[in-house]
Amino acid sequence: MPGARLNLLLVNMPLFLRSGLLLSFFLYNAVSFAQQNSTGVRPERCATGSVMEKFFRDHPFQKAAFDQRQLEFQKRYELVRRQRRGIPVQQRLNSIVTIPVVVHIVLPDPSIVTNDQVQSQIDVLNADYAGMNADSVKIPAAFKSVFGKSQLRFCLAQRTPQNNPTNGITRLASSTTSVAGEDDPVKYASQGGADAWDVTKYLNIWVCKMSSSTDLGYTFMPGLGIASAEIGFVNAYHAFGTTGTATAPFNKGRTATHEIGHYFNLQHVWGANDCISSCADSDNVDDTPNQDKCFFGIPTFPQTDACTTVAPGVMFMNFMDYTDDATMCMFTEGQADRMETAIASFSELIPLLSSNGCVPLTFYTNDVEVQKAANPSNNIFYCPGTITPQLLIKNIGTQPLNSVRLNVSIDGGAVASTTVSLSLPSLESATISGDVINITPGYHSIKMYTSLPNGVADEHPANDTVNTIFSATGTASAPLTEGFENSIFPPAGWGIANTSDISEYNPVRTTAAAHTGTASLKFDNHNYQLFGKYALLSTPATSIPINADSVKVIFWRAAAQATANVADTLQVLYSVDCGQTFTSAYKKGGVSLRTTETLTASEFIPSASQWVADTADLTGYVAGKYDNIIVQFRNINGFGNNVYLDDINIKTITLPPALKDKGYLLTPNPTTGYLTLQHYPSAASLKGISIFNSIGQMVWKSDYGTTPAMTNIRIDLSYIPPGIYFVRLLYTNKILTEKILKVN
Ligand SMILES: [Zn+2]
Repeated sequence: MPGARLNLLLVNMPLFLRSGLLLSFFLYNAVSFAQQNSTGVRPERCATGSVMEKFFRDHPFQKAAFDQRQLEFQKRYELVRRQRRGIPVQQRLNSIVTIPVVVHIVLPDPSIVTNDQVQSQIDVLNADYAGMNADSVKIPAAFKSVFGKSQLRFCLAQRTPQNNPTNGITRLASSTTSVAGEDDPVKYASQGGADAWDVTKYLNIWVCKMSSSTDLGYTFMPGLGIASAEIGFVNAYHAFGTTGTATAPFNKGRTATHEIGHYFNLQHVWGANDCISSCADSDNVDDTPNQDKCFFGIPTFPQTDACTTVAPGVMFMNFMDYTDDATMCMFTEGQADRMETAIASFSELIPLLSSNGCVPLTFYTNDVEVQKAANPSNNIFYCPGTITPQLLIKNIGTQPLNSVRLNVSIDGGAVASTTVSLSLPSLESATISGDVINITPGYHSIKMYTSLPNGVADEHPANDTVNTIFSATGTASAPLTEGFENSIFPPAGWGIANTSDISEYNPVRTTAAAHTGTASLKFDNHNYQLFGKYALLSTPATSIPINADSVKVIFWRAAAQATANVADTLQVLYSVDCGQTFTSAYKKGGVSLRTTETLTASEFIPSASQWVADTADLTGYVAGKYDNIIVQFRNINGFGNNVYLDDINIKTITLPPALKDKGYLLTPNPTTGYLTLQHYPSAASLKGISIFNSIGQMVWKSDYGTTPAMTNIRIDLSYIPPGIYFVRLLYTNKILTEKILKVN
């Protein structure tokens, strides 16, 4: 909250007050440079403190887990410190670790941040982290003995996650700005931002505009449990590198130096709080002096405060304070040890140690890379029958690819091989197909691999194989009902899947709620933050009478919104090509999907009254056209709350041919009592019905006047004696008479 309050206070201040001019005012008045946020005098140059505080408010359980991880880290760190203290810097070095960096420039005109500007930032990082920065000569003599020189270095990525050549820079023309905190749109392509590259291989930096003009950047510290798509840091485009759009006093690249400190588990020098006055709050580093709160601008040395009252005072020139770029010039040894310990301790950082992101690609003469299984793709449904195995390949050899062999083994069985001829230039991709194979209902594994590019051995076979799992749905006939009462899930012949890489996100059977019986199906949007990802439930390939006049999917649903501005979505789709393509017939989200008006932040479990019947009418799409369809329920994650389904029923109605021929039908004939008069398509022009016996006496009558008659009318003749009767139907434009026989 203190950070937010600062930003609000700044909103209406003249621009010059936010920069250097205010500083001279304070110099003149000999006021301390340590400023409380509540006085609102300077930009909060880093929003890490406030985004961490907000994260913990939103996720109290993760706070406990974070604290536990930090405690374990601190023990390990202190052990490292004891081992290293007193050992000269040169002898403490184990080996240089180079972190592959990808810079995502997201701006309306991303070209304004040039490659040279990006390189200037990398150069600053490599100097600052090695302790080779020219301005380190400004380190006061009293602090020179703790000057930290880490082994951390940085390179712009040389290869993409897909193993394509890259300069480590992506540019996206977009007006999306960074909203500091969780779910930052700048980190999601679906929200106009740039998706992270594999965070276990790259340090992702988003260079963009900040929605709060007073923020220069922010980072989520390790051990937090933040979504992997958000690991890395955001850097304001005017505080990045030393040239181009970099603007004084933040044009020495120190925002990134500072944020990467957080990325490697450094706190601000005054501690974890958001620049609040406190001597109890520590950065847990033993060679940074205890400091009360943050410093801004260009303080003169020395500065003392309530926590360190005598010279040389506090270390305001540390990269982890808030001073201007030209003032910051050092990490301490303790901080360097802490960062190096962090990269070897936190599960989300350890994989960086073995990343090949800095290694340029090696090109072979004949090298085919399998990029993915095009068919069957992973985690998808098929009708039983046959499929054509297909691979998306890329020719990463230096020669054109004229032929390659595709090998297929299903469920570990015999390998079927097909030699494919093609003409594929270097670095181009193509889809190749094998011979048709038979599949039966159930889950299957399939291994596909290439061999013999251009008829010779592949020089780099490590990238030739892909394994996928898919399910072939069973078959069924309408009417098809499913209430998820059987504990076997998915029900026989049904399929489940999702489009994230988290299999637990599949829909599940739950006994926590049910419309009828004791179980239902749950799409979990409460625990899984997978914006835009689908969780899927598919019916068996269901045959419907080809002459059916209506096809309806009737189901019960229950859903709640977590907050007013988050929306999960439910779609009902159908496929007439065995799951290859699906078409939407029903879509509801947010207010139209929810079955309770109560906003529910905790996990939603519906009560009996919170179930609603709903219908997806497929009549116009499939009736009379197709006799074999798969119906799919698609939940689209909005990180809102759970969506439940129960009592699904695929129901068809086939009308008698005589009804469709004549437009009406009177059944049964003969009758023992009741008659039903049906109309097709409607009874709108029917004005009255009269029934006469064989001597012309009227025995039954109904007039409709201006009220339209029902499409189906039931007539009770149980009280009249057996015999022949005449039913007279009076329409606006005609009169029809039908003879019927009443029997006992
Ligand atoms: Zn910071």
